[in-house]
Amino acid sequence: MVIADMPSRPSISPSPWRRRWQRWGIGVCRLSLIALAMAALAFSQKTDEDDPADLRVIAMQHFPGGLMDDQAEDGFYAVRDAESTTLGWITRSNPAARSILGYAGPSEVAIVLDAARKVKSIDFLSSADTAGHVEKVRRDLPFWQQWQGRGEAALGDYAQPILVSGASLTSDSIARGIAARFGSVGMDRFFPDDWKLEQIKEWFPQADRRADTPRAGISTVHQGEKMVGHVLHSSRMGVQERGFQGSSDVLVGMGVDGRIAGVLLLGSRDNEPYRSDVTDELRYADGFRGRAIEEITRSEDPSEFLLVSGASTTVRSVYGTVVEMLRRWQQPPTSPTLPWQWPVAALWIGAGIWLGTRGDKRSRVVAALMSIAAGIALGLLVGQDQWIGWARHGISWRNALPMLALSAVALMVPAFTGKNFYCSRICPHGAAQTLLGMVAKKRKALPVWLHRSLQHLPWLSLLVIWGLAILGWQLAFAHAEPFEIWNTGFIAFLPAAIFTIGLIAALFLPQAYCHYGCPTGALLKFLTHAPGRWTRRDSFATIFVVVAWLVRFVV
Ligand code: SF4
Repeated sequence: MVIADMPSRPSISPSPWRRRWQRWGIGVCRLSLIALAMAALAFSQKTDEDDPADLRVIAMQHFPGGLMDDQAEDGFYAVRDAESTTLGWITRSNPAARSILGYAGPSEVAIVLDAARKVKSIDFLSSADTAGHVEKVRRDLPFWQQWQGRGEAALGDYAQPILVSGASLTSDSIARGIAARFGSVGMDRFFPDDWKLEQIKEWFPQADRRADTPRAGISTVHQGEKMVGHVLHSSRMGVQERGFQGSSDVLVGMGVDGRIAGVLLLGSRDNEPYRSDVTDELRYADGFRGRAIEEITRSEDPSEFLLVSGASTTVRSVYGTVVEMLRRWQQPPTSPTLPWQWPVAALWIGAGIWLGTRGDKRSRVVAALMSIAAGIALGLLVGQDQWIGWARHGISWRNALPMLALSAVALMVPAFTGKNFYCSRICPHGAAQTLLGMVAKKRKALPVWLHRSLQHLPWLSLLVIWGLAILGWQLAFAHAEPFEIWNTGFIAFLPAAIFTIGLIAALFLPQAYCHYGCPTGALLKFLTHAPGRWTRRDSFATIFVVVAWLVRFVV
């Protein structure tokens, strides 16, 4: 029997809402896999800060023939000559600087002090930042020389350091790390207690309340509505000068007449009886009281203001701290301003997304020109080194906001929409290839077999980069991509070579680097491929993440 003309069962295709939920669900799974791989990296970091071998090498360069102590005091290794005379000290900026990030991670330097505890040299030790930025900073002599000759007490002052153009975040993180090492951050661990109104009653008996100013460590004191003076707090201002065992926490009262109302030792890491002797001397015979600021800052003799026999080292450190506090008090306050790069980056990313929704040639050209201009001006390109650095060292929200926004667009938009706006309209390197492809008259296509083989290269390089990172290799992964050239110029060889070869190839093969080289493009392709469907790539990525976590527990 032939059944003819029987109506066939209508095929049931999922509703648009269901398709959307499937796409979002798979997108969330893929983003979660990337997040889990980054988390595996974050938990597998080791430090070798207890090993002073690197400091010893630097110490020998600055003090030829000297011997560096095996043990540090407060992180300072003394360097001595054959007669045990101290030639100087050397210390590293970590651990205080470890949480201070540049473009991709923290940097560490060695600080060499001479016998008078003045800076002899600041030497680079290591950096998790991109290789090109680091190289720029390393070559910039004025940057390193700005600390030379500064006394230890002034090193906690971060105010307006000279930064390296084109590597400002890396150089800024180094400057902030040095300031942190000498007190700008982390002083709270030593002196956790804030001052109380009772402690300054002798200076301002009528004061009934305090108010903190926007300047760190500087407060005003009031009687009702009337201001009766200022109080400066050294540990909160980040002023630190080492005495016999460590620094001291000092309070300075300033009257409304501009004269010193009094100086108080709130705490000190120096030992007894020096601490008590200096505390008592300040309490009962405060030699600073009633003095004008210039009298104190111009004097070279601490004993004019504070004389305690047998406690000269503590006296010198307290005096140095007071002088530095007064110097900063006199500096005009600086108001934080929004960097111009932030609104420009926001406009560029927004315009890129908008142009990404339009498919015409003119939109492509406008987006490409805009992205190239933004790439040259801002140097912002997402890449594996950046993401691995964030996973390993955390994110500096203050510095990384434009890069975070760019990364969020690059990752979230493909995961939830299935469209890769970053590659199609935002990436400056992709845009440069697009324009070169339009300029070139003759376009070629690779033989199918070669195209099929080469298209695996971006996936392979993505796998190798993340595999080595998971295994703990401290490589400059920025060298595997051409992106830092947009930021630092032609400094590092490998990125420069990949940049040049990729762009020349784009004259003949459309988007040659994107198709046959880019690991970042492969990662974004992973987010956009087969929206709403679990594929072999997802299974492979899941296995990779499981292995990464196993390695994290074993290695
Ligand atoms: S594939 Fe790589 S180079 Fe190409 S547009 Fe995407 S991120 Fe940029």
